[in-house]
Amino acid sequence: MADFDYDLFVIGAGSGGVRAARIAATHGARVAIAEEYRYGGTCVIRGCVPKKLLVYASQYSEAFQDARGFGWSIGDTSFDWKALIAAKDKEISRLEGIYRRNLENSDVELHDTRAVIAGPNSVYLKAQDRTVTAKTILIATGGRPNLDPRIEGIEHVISSDEVFHLEELPQRIAISGGGYIAVEFACIFAGLGVETTLVYRGEQILRGFDDDLRAAVHTEIEKKGVRVLCGELIDRIEKLDEGGLRGHLGSGEVLNVDQIMFAIGRNPNTEGLGLENAGVELGPKGEIRVDAASRTNVPSIYAVGDVTDRVNLTPVAIREGHAFADSVFGHNPRTVDHSMIPTAVFTQPEIGTVGLTEAQALASYANVDVYSSAFRPMRNTISGRDERMLMKILVDADTDRVLGVHVLGPDAGELSQVLGIALKMGATKADFDATMAVHPTAAEELVTMRSPSKQHRRAAAE
Ligand code: FAD
Ligand code: NDP
Repeated sequence: MADFDYDLFVIGAGSGGVRAARIAATHGARVAIAEEYRYGGTCVIRGCVPKKLLVYASQYSEAFQDARGFGWSIGDTSFDWKALIAAKDKEISRLEGIYRRNLENSDVELHDTRAVIAGPNSVYLKAQDRTVTAKTILIATGGRPNLDPRIEGIEHVISSDEVFHLEELPQRIAISGGGYIAVEFACIFAGLGVETTLVYRGEQILRGFDDDLRAAVHTEIEKKGVRVLCGELIDRIEKLDEGGLRGHLGSGEVLNVDQIMFAIGRNPNTEGLGLENAGVELGPKGEIRVDAASRTNVPSIYAVGDVTDRVNLTPVAIREGHAFADSVFGHNPRTVDHSMIPTAVFTQPEIGTVGLTEAQALASYANVDVYSSAFRPMRNTISGRDERMLMKILVDADTDRVLGVHVLGPDAGELSQVLGIALKMGATKADFDATMAVHPTAAEELVTMRSPSKQHRRAAAE
């Protein structure tokens, strides 16, 4: 057998790579990892974690307003963007330190460098200008923001990479996109008092989510002051002499703003990775093609996380990394089940969802019952806030199995985690009904909806 420097070389120390490296090392493998930027990857450094801190910050403006209804007198309030960013940076550095230490404590060798595939068993380390060998290579290089280079003036916009480091809070911002990042940041900026316009090319934001939920979130974020323009594109950006930017829309309207953010999806990080040196196959978006065991067409090379463009979420990358390490180094072959993944969108109000949308349920099941409830949660009563909560349960009428649950409202993300357990276990509507309510909560509505609001029945002849 050939002699290699390492049993495993991991490229990319984000969610998937770090988990795989640590688990493989605990199984006794000699492991090294390369990171070209900061340990922790997108999620920790410029994704989920700093984003959630900004969400928390932006929620205080409403909390101050609502407090008055509960008898509080609130004096003058003000917000300091620089103080928030400094506190966020400190926390992110602390977390990065933990990621580094955890790897070191697991006896993983750290290389602070860009790494490039040099062959099926070799990796070139740029900063050290040397090539190392490994029996197995794991690619966990994640993704990067997609910026359409065909758009004139695109060099003036920011993406989610820059948004966490803005020197000043803009007074006016336009955000292009209608997916997770665009809607979350529209709510963050609106909550911080920024005049915010969301520009989305399709008919309704958040494609892929349940249609009722999409319509409801659209309505609610407009109430919070986000101007939502659907069926529009920012197709040219002009830098103004007097400062600021002008975004030109397809309709001819112009948006004069301080910043323009593009959040139009992410591309797998495969460019310049040397994949051709080993003959690793890519899919149409530049994603690495893998089988259920995360193995590429080259037997010694595996890939996990966003670079494979399966389900681009942190917990999924972590699971894939863990399953890879257990399978290859722990004599415990297993694959990741990508079905019924609960997810949250940290809009304000929040989205929490698991399972099929109504449209997906109708496409796959003949008879579907829809239980739906829209109401004003108790916290919005004496505060006077005009914000409604939406809950929707989809049931296969033939088996009573719950196919999907969709929630819009406070703490919906937290709820989706627990709903995910129930749906993964195959809960029926009768199980929901048999569960005692917790009172007074908003979530009790999930176990007290008795009559379907809609009953879809496919005719037998169809
Ligand atoms: P990454 O975490 O992206 O890690 C890849 C690492 O590889 C990076 O550190 C990169 O620097 C490094 N790298 C790349 N190329 C090389 C190379 N050649 N050599 C060395 N190092 C290299 N997911 C959620 O579940 N919940 C959320 O709330 C959420 N919010 C998000 C918010 C934003 C703004 C963004 C952008 C993403 C968010 N995500 C969220 C998605 C989540 O961050 C990703 O799914 C997750 O980080 C993917 O992990 P990964 O290991 O595949 O890649
Ligand atoms: P998404 O895929 O969620 O959304 C991309 C958006 O950009 C869609 O509205 C899409 O429109 C639009 N779009 C795509 N191409 C263009 C184009 N050329 N011009 C104009 N608009 C375009 O990507 P994000 O960038 O928002 O986020 C990336 C991923 O990160 C998410 O999919 C998710 O997996 C993860 N993430 C998860 C979060 C969470 O768990 N809370 C938070 C943030 C990110 P259309 O729908 O018409 O295709």
